[in-house]
Amino acid sequence: MPTRQVLKERDRSLNKVELADSHCHLDMLQDMSQVKESIANGVLTIITDGIDTKSNARALEISDNENVFPALGIDPEHVPDLQERELDFNINMIRTNRARIVAIGEIGLDFMLAKSEKEKELQRKVFGRMLDLANELGLPVSVHAREAMDEVLSTLKARKVKMVHLHFFSGTEQQAEEAAKLGYMVSIPPLQSSSRRKAIMKVPIQQLLAETDCPIVGKSPADVEKSVRLIAETKGMKYEEAAKMIVENTRRFFSIDGKLNKSKSPLIRY
Ligand SMILES: [Zn+2]
Repeated sequence: MPTRQVLKERDRSLNKVELADSHCHLDMLQDMSQVKESIANGVLTIITDGIDTKSNARALEISDNENVFPALGIDPEHVPDLQERELDFNINMIRTNRARIVAIGEIGLDFMLAKSEKEKELQRKVFGRMLDLANELGLPVSVHAREAMDEVLSTLKARKVKMVHLHFFSGTEQQAEEAAKLGYMVSIPPLQSSSRRKAIMKVPIQQLLAETDCPIVGKSPADVEKSVRLIAETKGMKYEEAAKMIVENTRRFFSIDGKLNKSKSPLIRY
């Protein structure tokens, strides 16, 4: 059952435009009251992504499966220090919590960070294991791609991964078009650029999501408003209309209704 606190926040947010943040890192926030504030400001669906063992555990701890939902993964930055045993431990954590989590993420390839061919290989290995796991468990993936978009797209195609969220999309308009054709979700951060606007134009509104990646880019989930405004302006839509579509897209793609109230954790620290 949702706590009284959450219900109260939901009541307070009723007159606000409802929003959804499809990718952030609440475990890195200094001040957890920002989560409460974001919910009060209408961000009623927030997906917090783990990036390593500690943050995966924390993502589970802070998710209430009412407003905040966990995704677990190993991001490419944390691959070099990862022992085989630790990878297995995380895979096991994902399996055990399958009913609660809404995606496997953050995972992906980051060739800007890879210092050698060996590191690239390690990233490919962990990414591949996570994609296989997503297929096995029937979960979506939340994917990071930096200086590696072509390889990420070809890997996803080769492994026949269907439910794909391209987080913090920073590819070209051609890559956006290809992602849209493959049925992937393209996620827009609160940062504008002409290339991002071009990418937005190539993706139907039904396949767009908004995110903050906070606290790395946005300050808190409330900043997802800026991502939604960017999408609305670029598409020539009303803000409220774009927000509604994006909330629907988020809840459909991550099967949010099927993950409600799955949290055994009674404590919410925000
Ligand atoms: Zn992220």
